Amino acid sequence: MPPESADILIVGGGPTGAALALALRCSGYSVVLLEARDSLTDDPRPLALSYGSRLILERLGVWASVVASTPILSIHVSQRGGFGRSVLSAKEAGLPALGYVVSHSELQSALQHVLTNCFNGATVLRIEAGEESARAEFSYRGNTQQIGAKLLVLADGGRGLEGIEGVTQQEKDYHQCAVVTQVKAHAPHCNIAYERFTPQGPLALLPFGEKLALVWTTAPQVAEMLCGLSEALFLQRLHQHFGDRLGAFTETGKRASFPLKLKYAITPTMQRIVILGNAAQTLHPVAGQGFNLGLRDAWELSEIILRSAAQQLGTSEMLQVYRVRRRLDRYGGIFFTDTLLSLFTSDSAPLRTVRGFALAALDALPAAKRFLMSRMIFGARG
Ligand SMILES: Cc1cc2nc3c(=O)[nH]c(=O)nc-3n(C[C@H](O)[C@H](O)[C@H](O)COP(=O)(O)OP(=O)(O)OC[C@H]3O[C@@H](n4cnc5c(N)ncnc54)[C@H](O)[C@@H]3O)c2cc1C
Repeated sequence: MPPESADILIVGGGPTGAALALALRCSGYSVVLLEARDSLTDDPRPLALSYGSRLILERLGVWASVVASTPILSIHVSQRGGFGRSVLSAKEAGLPALGYVVSHSELQSALQHVLTNCFNGATVLRIEAGEESARAEFSYRGNTQQIGAKLLVLADGGRGLEGIEGVTQQEKDYHQCAVVTQVKAHAPHCNIAYERFTPQGPLALLPFGEKLALVWTTAPQVAEMLCGLSEALFLQRLHQHFGDRLGAFTETGKRASFPLKLKYAITPTMQRIVILGNAAQTLHPVAGQGFNLGLRDAWELSEIILRSAAQQLGTSEMLQVYRVRRRLDRYGGIFFTDTLLSLFTSDSAPLRTVRGFALAALDALPAAKRFLMSRMIFGARG
């Protein structure tokens, strides 16, 4: 049974909450994690992790358990119906890989495997905060219970924020959905990730084992249609949309569609509460920044907790340090993905030309490329 009090309470055991719990496991604090779902190992989406995220997962001691990981050695960025392209490579970045494509489920079980005090099937119903502590009411095995903590960390993916007093959120509906699946192509992927911008939305193909993980963003009604197509027709549509760089597509797996929104809390802290991961900022999946940013949230929060005196835990001074430390990276990630979308989804001919020149210029300027890569890999603070 979950206890009635803890030093740190984490609400949500997705990859962000679980990573934080893991980072704090030797802190000397009592850490309790409440997760609504019974099992978290059923997410079919592969995740693109940056090289920086690999370093964090290594420090957490879980990287070695993530067996199905495919290195991304270069990223090919292009636009449909326009000239110009740019190639970002691990060699130019001076790293063994720009990132890795991993199985979401495998990562989740690697993180959860080593956790203690993690309660699955515990749904938090209400949270409230006072000067000295925060409290959560939750249901677990048919009972409603309460737990108090000096610091409550909300990592619920953004599902419960609306109900919390004092949180100001910004929201923008992209009126797009992402169709995700795994496909096979005639040509081998050679560890290249493709990001192709089209007026309907970006399309990403990421190397994953022998296959490619597809994230195809498009209008909701088109996404619904794509999910309902026969395998042969879907593969044909994909070939038409992506072009001939990998030849024809030959196989596809189960398809799923996710609605896309930008949603973020203006301030990721409140009295005795820190909001992190998708709960603090839900981004468009273009450039695969979401969990990478959430993992840095978790890592930096754990560092602040570990370096502060015990009586500082959950105080406004500690939360202020967290806010300041995360501001640039959070807003950098939000601004980067949102601007990329605005610039690349307009179908105006002059803008297409400007984009073409921008991609070609980026390709010709190694210093600019290194700057961009380091921000994408290690966050806005480089
Ligand atoms: C199509 C798509 C592709 C993506 N690709 C990438 C990518 O390649 N790279 C990348 O970095 N990011 C990617 N992302 C983003 C990434 O999936 C998210 O950033 C990441 O999953 C967020 O993790 P989280 O732990 O913050 O939230 P979540 O994964 O949403 O986890 C929240 C957890 O909280 C639990 N919970 C919710 N409410 C309660 C409650 N009341 N009580 C207890 N528990 C609760 C939920 O059950 C859940 O397990 C992608 C997103 C999409 C939509």
